[in-house]
Amino acid sequence: MPIAGIYGPDDFGPAHRHPTAPAHRRLSNAERARALPMPSLEWTPEVERATAHLYERVKKVISPVEWPFMAPYIKAINELKKTRDAVILAHNYQTPEIFHCVADIGGDSLQLAIEATKVKSDIIVQCGVHFMAETSKILNPHKTVLIPDSRAGCSLASSITGADVRLLRERFPGVPVVAYVNTSADVKAEVDICCTSSNAVQVVESLNAPTVIFVPDQYLAKYVASQTDVKIIAWKGACEVHERFTGDELRAYREADPSVQIIAHPECPPDVLAEADFTGSTAHMINWVRNKHPKRVVMITECSMADNVQAELPDVEMVRPCNLCPHMKRITLPKILDSLVYLREEVTVDPMIADRARRSVERMINLKN
Ligand code: SF4
Repeated sequence: MPIAGIYGPDDFGPAHRHPTAPAHRRLSNAERARALPMPSLEWTPEVERATAHLYERVKKVISPVEWPFMAPYIKAINELKKTRDAVILAHNYQTPEIFHCVADIGGDSLQLAIEATKVKSDIIVQCGVHFMAETSKILNPHKTVLIPDSRAGCSLASSITGADVRLLRERFPGVPVVAYVNTSADVKAEVDICCTSSNAVQVVESLNAPTVIFVPDQYLAKYVASQTDVKIIAWKGACEVHERFTGDELRAYREADPSVQIIAHPECPPDVLAEADFTGSTAHMINWVRNKHPKRVVMITECSMADNVQAELPDVEMVRPCNLCPHMKRITLPKILDSLVYLREEVTVDPMIADRARRSVERMINLKN
């Protein structure tokens, strides 16, 4: 059914401000004090030997010319992980040298949130954006959670605040609120339950309510509304990567090759999803390609995911529209190395907010289980 309305900060007067990711900062004295020596970053025959098995994984998407610049970092990061007893979680949108060569666990937001609850290591390095690191901290309050660049934000997470949710509740008393995990801890603390793009419809229907407020992605809200009889009240947020795709673009791919398969993420606008052969979360898209093994596929999502799937399935031809997320791309090998050498940048969440946010995230995880 069509969604019942879309609200944004302008609907609640001018006094609204939105959080921005904390500014990147210089090394503090505490970080200097706990630093380990910076490893050698020379390309040597030993580095080449030690990383040869990792290059095998990514040789389809990283050229031999690039590898000598990456391999010394990869070797150093993998050694430092052991020294620091750290685990690296990487989102599907991280670049292949991170996703396939230094990450211990890769996946979409839901997979990372679930894996974060099982981590045994003392330190989690989150290769993704700030709300993901916050989610790991919420689920692991006693562990050290690091993000290699805390400026890695998200247009969805910055589109809404906890105060906005409280105003929505005042406007629609008694209507339950679902927040996509792409939100700050402050927002998660104010809602009834979280969801990801993998389980959004299931989460909405689990509330057994005739109407649900769904924040902050208006396009995911529209997609959910198209899949359920529950009336959806949406927020005006959007992913700056997925909202750039257009139906015309997809029609052009199909005209160029009528046999091409097109799969799209539900953060895309409805005219894009109408042209796609399949719509699903990043995890569902990857599984679709693994199972169907198409000859040629266009993945309508962040560009690095096509590289990561290409590395795993070299015989599937990827057509890359290549919309990059500038926030995800802030995470690089040199910054991950810095994270492990200096234990920076530590992610903190106010314990009172974390306790309330944890309830919303765990409610979603328990639903999944
Ligand atoms: S791809 Fe979109 S939703 Fe994901 S982090 Fe970037 S801006 Fe946020």
